[in-house]
Amino acid sequence: MDSLEKRHRFQVSHLHTSVEIPIEFRNTALDLRNKTLCASGFHAPERGKIDILDDVLIDVSAGGTISAIHRPSDPNYRSIRDAREETGELVTLPAGSYLLPGFIDLHVHAPQYPQLGSALDVPLEVWLQKYTFPLEARYEDLAFARRSYGLLVDDLLANGTTTALYFATVHQDATRTLVDTCIEKGQRALIGKVSMDNVDECPDYYRDASPEAAINGTRALIDYVRTHPENTDGRVLPVITPRFIPSCTDATLEGLGALAKECGCHVQTHCSESDWAHGNVLSRYGVTDTEALDRFGLLGRRTVLAHANFLTTDDMDRVREREAAVAHCPLSNVYFANAVFPLRAALDKGVHVGLGTDISGGPSASMLENCRGAILMSRALESGVDPTLDSAARATFGPAQIDFRDAFYIATAGGGVALDLPVGQFRPGYLFDAIVIDTRAEKGSVRLFDEFDSGEQILQKIINTASKPNIAATWVGGLNVRLP
Ligand SMILES: [Zn+2]
Repeated sequence: MDSLEKRHRFQVSHLHTSVEIPIEFRNTALDLRNKTLCASGFHAPERGKIDILDDVLIDVSAGGTISAIHRPSDPNYRSIRDAREETGELVTLPAGSYLLPGFIDLHVHAPQYPQLGSALDVPLEVWLQKYTFPLEARYEDLAFARRSYGLLVDDLLANGTTTALYFATVHQDATRTLVDTCIEKGQRALIGKVSMDNVDECPDYYRDASPEAAINGTRALIDYVRTHPENTDGRVLPVITPRFIPSCTDATLEGLGALAKECGCHVQTHCSESDWAHGNVLSRYGVTDTEALDRFGLLGRRTVLAHANFLTTDDMDRVREREAAVAHCPLSNVYFANAVFPLRAALDKGVHVGLGTDISGGPSASMLENCRGAILMSRALESGVDPTLDSAARATFGPAQIDFRDAFYIATAGGGVALDLPVGQFRPGYLFDAIVIDTRAEKGSVRLFDEFDSGEQILQKIINTASKPNIAATWVGGLNVRLP
């Protein structure tokens, strides 16, 4: 029994038959494993379509996966519901509360949390040297790492982020601390020790000492995660993490590509993020980031490319063919990318895309705020932004708008597809990673009117107006990880 489970055990004993959970349940622990949840809510198993759940019964297994979903139209719905009620296995969400898949944040720099919302005044290449490398170097200090990572994971769970794809730092010990923190607090996480050894781009005080150090350090972290005694369910996964091509030598990129083939791990890196980053790779190899990563064996089904703003048409075709994914980071792109990622074009093409906060390149840790950012940026991209031009001259990009359905999709199911993990939607065999939005939370920011709001309109309002006080519960693998 892990420590999280121990903390829960005594708190669920008060559950009785057919519990109508009080609003205060945000501050209680509730273990849904081996129980059935009766809930209304939403998920987006396919892009562009919202599946509305109305009083469905979701059976959660002892292992935290969804074993069955029963809808009121199913012939045996009533008898199943009565039976679960009889045995005390039925848990019912209160009226006004809606179940959503937990958010999947596809791009987080865990060590940058202390500078979230600041250091936004300079271009990417200056930002790294002036603010970010000095901050990341501090994670040599394990006490600092523990404090910072504990706060980050608690805050992300409270924000409804049930899965996060993390860049850590170059440090072996601090990266292990992040692994331990996610296991202890119950967040699903994919974590990489950052590889960066190019003396031309990385400072003396913060880099891998050699290609061997980068590659062996990555291998050591993979072993640590895979043999961790409290990670037998694989809630935390290791990730091969070359920071980006400019920060790595060819030997490191080659070695990490070989390691990816050998271990089958996920891979994450930055790809064609800004004019400078894109140009750096073009002048070094004469090809784009995407093509170079492919040559190094770093572009596969489990690769997530952060940003990818400057993908050419050929690049996008290549990403799709390799079944790799893009982490779209709309808020960060406003500050550091010099461009807007053509999200709609990528989705229309069938490229796997998920959403990322890019803490701290983006100034918000909230996936809801990043959903809104993705919608806003897509509209600006379609209309153009220069008011001195007439509308035809201003709008030269073509169709680019997305709406709340696409934003919700990339924040949930799209992220699960990108990671090749059974998360982000409610389906038998998928992990029960979910959040509850309490639309009646007094201190929240969602206001529904019975006269006007029903169906998808409720989800639209949640995506556009919900905030942390509306997030009443966060479950990962059936376990409520948002503890008081
Ligand atoms: Zn990043």
